[in-house]
Amino acid sequence: MFQLRDYQLEQYRQIVNSMKQGHRSIMVQSPPRTGKTVVMAEIARRTTAKGGRVMFIVHRKEIVDQVMSTFKTQGVNMNLAKIGMVQTFTRHLDSLPEPAVLFVDEAHHALAKSYRRVLDRYPKAVKLLFTGTPYRLNGKGFHDVADDLVVGKQISWLIQNGNLAPIDYYAPKQIDTSDLRTKRGEFTEESIANSVKPKIYGNAVKNYQQLAAGKQAIAYTYNVESAEKLAEAFNTAGITARAVSGKTSKEDRDEIIAAYRVGAIQVVTNAELFTEGLDLPSVDCVIMLRPTQSLSLFLQFGMRSMNPRPGKRAIIIDHVGNVERFGLPTDDRVWTLDDTKKSKSSTTTSDIKPVTVCEQCFGTFYRTADTCPYCGAIIPVKERKIEVDEEAELQKVEADKRLARAKKIIESNATMAVADKTPGQLNSMAELKAYAELHNYKHGWVYYQAKMKGLIH
Ligand SMILES: [Zn+2]
Repeated sequence: MFQLRDYQLEQYRQIVNSMKQGHRSIMVQSPPRTGKTVVMAEIARRTTAKGGRVMFIVHRKEIVDQVMSTFKTQGVNMNLAKIGMVQTFTRHLDSLPEPAVLFVDEAHHALAKSYRRVLDRYPKAVKLLFTGTPYRLNGKGFHDVADDLVVGKQISWLIQNGNLAPIDYYAPKQIDTSDLRTKRGEFTEESIANSVKPKIYGNAVKNYQQLAAGKQAIAYTYNVESAEKLAEAFNTAGITARAVSGKTSKEDRDEIIAAYRVGAIQVVTNAELFTEGLDLPSVDCVIMLRPTQSLSLFLQFGMRSMNPRPGKRAIIIDHVGNVERFGLPTDDRVWTLDDTKKSKSSTTTSDIKPVTVCEQCFGTFYRTADTCPYCGAIIPVKERKIEVDEEAELQKVEADKRLARAKKIIESNATMAVADKTPGQLNSMAELKAYAELHNYKHGWVYYQAKMKGLIH
């Protein structure tokens, strides 16, 4: 049995207070990887100790074992606890006695009809709806299922107090996100495949070598093929990597996890959206090659690297611009049960501030000075605004897309035009960029050349 941390105990007390105030359906916000199962286990332990039954609806069968083991360790009377997928419960609704407490995991997407049938079947049970991100893609609130909200600590607080590792966030731009299309709120696999150019895998390897060499990493990709290609690119570069997906057998998966644990595998590439079945404790670097519209997934991806260790800084390398949709994972966020207005640029309840990406080192940060906090490089002034007016914003998005396409065409023409020139003959940013592209030079080269030529200050 392990002791609850102070913030877990605080959340436990907040839940108990809410119950005492008469709330019967409480949404509990708890960031990923901060031990919400331990909080649930404490409630379950006290409930079963008094003879009450508990029921736990998990959203993935892979975590049933993990929850059972935590519950057992924490002293829950397992004779009074039922843990399973929603289907398991719906099949036996008539034979299962009413629980005193009903836990729901990942409650932000667990509000489908099947869940409602189970919840509605037990009017007297206290429902505790846990989620890291009480937010739905359609902006609809949760008043239909919850009558109170208990909010956990902010990620910034958890870092400051040693419960999560601090992060360095890098966003090298290698994917053209302007053509991403959505289906049911999430990007389609086809549109991602079209946006990812073959060289992205090689670049992901290069960036890993530059930014996180030697660190154990997990890379999130968008399908099985891309996971395998990326693993291949790593192996070619001498970095041991293995791909894991829904197609991987349990034996292979266990073998990969064991090899990763002892450091025999450096990088795991993963095409699965839900990764609870893949328990890799020593991840220090996350590589994102999967664009997502889901704040929940974004935080699950990023925070996978944030298990703390003295002196550790986690590294997140975002190749797909997720940071532009959600801000940094460490941002403070405001949660509410109310409806939130759906907006194109923001998928959280808090406003997204524009981030700055250093062209020298890809360090990603909120600008507070003229130099990069990662490498000290001078940051050229760039205008980036997030529109507030929704109508104006829609027009802006369209205009931006056209502009981006036009820019691509100009740049490809410029590439042709600079093919026979020497650096001394380049006289504009477009030519410098085209030349750098042609010769595979880094952004930093363009920046220094432009500075030397007085094109920027
Ligand atoms: Zn920098």
